[in-house]
Amino acid sequence: MIKYLFFVAAFLVSTCVAAQNFDQALDELEVVLQSQQGNADILFDNLAADYAKMTADQKARFLMFSGMKDLFGGDYQRSLESLNSALNLTNSLPLVSQILVYQATGYILKREFSNALDKLQKNLALIENLQDRGIQISTYLRLASLYYQMELYEDVGLFANRALKLVSDDDTKNTCYAKLYVGAYAIETNQLQQALSAFADTRAYCGSHALPLVVAMASKGEGRARSELGDFDEAERLLLQALAGYTKFGYQMEIGSAHSLLAKNYWKSGNLEKAKYHANMTIDTEASDVRAKQMAYEVLASLYADSGDYTKAYSAQTLEQKYRQELLDGTKAKAQAYEAAKFNAVEQQREIALLNKEREQYLAQQNINERERSNSLMFSIIFFGSSLFLLIMLLAGGIQRNKYKRLSQRDGLTGVFNRSTGQEFAENRLIQLMARNQSFSLILLDLDSFKQINDSFGHGTGDWALKKVVEVLIPLLHPDDILARFGGEEFFIALPGAGVDKALEVAERCRLAIESIDTHYSGHTFELTASFGVTSLMEDDLSLDPLLHRADLALYQAKNSGRNQICVELGKKGSPKSAHTPSAQSLAQTGQ
Ligand code: GH3
Ligand code: MG
Ligand code: MG
Repeated sequence: MIKYLFFVAAFLVSTCVAAQNFDQALDELEVVLQSQQGNADILFDNLAADYAKMTADQKARFLMFSGMKDLFGGDYQRSLESLNSALNLTNSLPLVSQILVYQATGYILKREFSNALDKLQKNLALIENLQDRGIQISTYLRLASLYYQMELYEDVGLFANRALKLVSDDDTKNTCYAKLYVGAYAIETNQLQQALSAFADTRAYCGSHALPLVVAMASKGEGRARSELGDFDEAERLLLQALAGYTKFGYQMEIGSAHSLLAKNYWKSGNLEKAKYHANMTIDTEASDVRAKQMAYEVLASLYADSGDYTKAYSAQTLEQKYRQELLDGTKAKAQAYEAAKFNAVEQQREIALLNKEREQYLAQQNINERERSNSLMFSIIFFGSSLFLLIMLLAGGIQRNKYKRLSQRDGLTGVFNRSTGQEFAENRLIQLMARNQSFSLILLDLDSFKQINDSFGHGTGDWALKKVVEVLIPLLHPDDILARFGGEEFFIALPGAGVDKALEVAERCRLAIESIDTHYSGHTFELTASFGVTSLMEDDLSLDPLLHRADLALYQAKNSGRNQICVELGKKGSPKSAHTPSAQSLAQTGQ
């Protein structure tokens, strides 16, 4: 109130003086928001009352802080609205850059990744015009923050270390954040010892420079590393400290996260009462993120199962799986930016193929080769076109390309699941069906003499055949079936719920469909067939591995017996988990 009167009085004397006082008050608000030493609400109320008297830039700052507060409080929509209004009010580049970072963060939290990338793009386009070292440092830190949220941890380490090299001794805030990101990089890439020392360093440094939010973050990171190393007592102490820090700050999402880590830590150390308490606290905290909720339900499912409460265990388990799937979907969405960039590059390649002058073709091809040499270069051309950003991204190029590739769940050529994803989904379904004592079958198929097709008609024709095969197989499958490219010209089809008879029927339909492909549409005419290995879940099976092994044996047999046929292998022990089995148990031959 005193401050409010002070502002009013100052305004009466001169608007210029008032403007300066608003700057001071806004600075104060920024400090309070970041350190939580003082009451931000009172400062907000005071400034809100004088909003109309502020300059446009001051209004923008005020709105940016409101957005920041809502971001911490978990109200992302309102935060984005404030930030948008802020952006419309200012032309100050450092301010615009700061606002864009908060917007990108808001979109990432809302899981709108392409919007986040758009804000990132706009921000990076500004770098050229922001050339002093301080701005460079904060840009590296912004990149580190965004890449952290995009789960690109190698890049987090890269940019954090760059920032750390540039900071001067008196730039305590940036030094503090850079140290934190070095720790974050270490823990997310599972370098636990490095994480411990980086976070301890961060706590000491940021604690002595009045940045308690970062201290809470570092305590959480160190606690997590301790817990993963089995030092549960020290983990407990650090995580409780983090929780207290976040609570003071009102940072709901992080409060949820700290609770979830405490739940897991207590669960691992056998303190089941406290594990349950913190798991429930995680769930009760509305802004808890998906990972926190997944962890909390994982703990609860186990606790309920141990105490014999199977109904609750089942529903916790179901939710745990739902959140696990959401995490996976998030990862998929993050890979889409890369996919979009890749698609554009392919389109450009096609256009070049149409150019008829040899010289133009040569130059354009050079250009494309250059682009392919670095994913970052591609990103830059498509998204940013900023030379400085190009340089930064060039440094991150190789790492990023590999990371995005790993993120992608789909096979780039055919669009079906890649091997690891297909196997993971199949394994999950298998485990569910095993528990219910139901059938499960697996078909492995490999195109015949495919090398010869490549050798005779070129790789392009081979690729055409692979895509065509997938195109004819998909309509033959049930939505629940899982089709994945197992590698090269080999695919697997998991058939949840299907016994061996059904699997043989499906395999035969697939065999006929591949055999009937009219290859002349590829520009060449050739025979296209595949060999099949089929197997089903047997009583002794505990995982997908033995099924894959038997399907492989059967496929080998089909190849040896002349190709374009189906063989089945059910092993020697046990009986299949289906009502009816074929008369020949092992290596029965069907097809041609
Ligand atoms: P078999 O009947 O015994 O399976 O003979 P094959 O020629 O099909 O088997 P081999 O393993 O000798 O050759 C597989 C070929 O598949 C070799 C490889 O170049 C080709 N291949 C793998 N992936 C792709 C791809 O993505 N596109 C194209 N065009 N060819 C591929
Ligand atoms: Mg083959
Ligand atoms: Mg093969």
